[in-house]
This record gives sequence, C-alpha cells and structure tokens, in this order.
Amino acid sequence: MCMEKTPWERAVEFHGHVCLGLAMGYRVAEAAMGALACKRDVDEQLIAIAENDSCAVDAIQVITGCTVGKGNLILRDYGKQAYTFALRDQKKAVRITVKRPEGAKQEEIMALREKITAGAAAEEDKTRFREMNEGMLREYLARPLDELCEVKDAAYDLPEKARIFPSVTCSCCGEKVMEPRARLKDGQPACIPCSEHYNRS
Ligand SMILES: [Zn+2]
Ligand SMILES: [Zn+2]
Repeated sequence: MCMEKTPWERAVEFHGHVCLGLAMGYRVAEAAMGALACKRDVDEQLIAIAENDSCAVDAIQVITGCTVGKGNLILRDYGKQAYTFALRDQKKAVRITVKRPEGAKQEEIMALREKITAGAAAEEDKTRFREMNEGMLREYLARPLDELCEVKDAAYDLPEKARIFPSVTCSCCGEKVMEPRARLKDGQPACIPCSEHYNRS
C-alpha cells in the first residue's frame, strides 16, 4: 500500500521542483482557507485572484482547487505577491499580501546566485547556496502564518454570475473570445489579434 501524499508533496509533484515561490503560494493558500474557513474548491465556490504569475500560483491551484482552467483563478500580472480570495455563497473576501523573508539572508542568497550564474562560484559557495535555500524553505513552511502573510478583509466585488469569463464572438474571425479580452471594432466585438491587425492597416 502506498502512503497518501501530503498536500505539500502534491504541490511539489504538480509544480515539478521545490522552490521558495512554491512554498510561498502554499502558505498563502493555507492562510486563505483558514481566513475564509473553507475547504478545497470543487465547483467554483471559491475564487482566487493572483496578482502575479510566479511559482506560487501553482501551489495555490493545487491546494485551494482554484485553477486557471476552471476559471476561478484569475491572473492579473501586476508583479505583486498579493492575492484576493472570495467565497461566492458568503460574499466574503480577503486580500493576502506576502511579507518579505528576512533581508540579510535574502541578500546573501542573491549574491550567491549571481556568483553561480556568472560561473564564479566555488564549490563551497554552491553548497552554501543550496543549504541556505533548503533552510529558508523549511523555515518558511514551519513559520506561523501571521509572520508570513498579512490577511485583511476585502470588499466582495466579483461578478454574480457563475461564469467569470463570458464569451463573445469576434466579428472578424468568428472565434469565441472571453469578454474581458474583447475589443470593439466598428462597435462590434473583436478578438485582440483581429483588432490589432485592424489598427495596423
Ligand atoms: Zn518554482
Ligand atoms: Zn478575431
């Protein structure tokens, strides 16, 4: 009989490698589900908005069940480690921002990474880099959530309808395009490639 994988192991398996970003997303997911007192999403009751497209997002998908494919994970790539989670039935939302890990260690790790990338690292630099990363990761997974994440109540202002991304038909190519990505051409909806072609001609 095989042992059931832990949630963290499932996140690593999905993501492919172990990294601090994944750990960050894992803890954010944990904080969100704790704050909203909810379980892993099955049918789009829980919605996540991620303000980045980093490694963290993969852990969020695995742990919260909010996925890009299901449409209840919305990526807004603002390059911010910030997330909003909302529960449809309760009209409740929280915004979570990630506090930066301690500065001194971060600086040393970044300096080591630069050295390694430049091919100027000695064997002990590489070992130190690996050990520091592993240490930070272990610490990151073990630390109390309130040291890692700031959780605030947020306004629930998500669409009421079950479809977060309704489709419209492009008036040029006839293909479906989700409404938030559609442009207008002669007052008719058009997909981005068609509207860009139009603008150039
Ligand atoms: Zn990663
Ligand atoms: Zn089109």
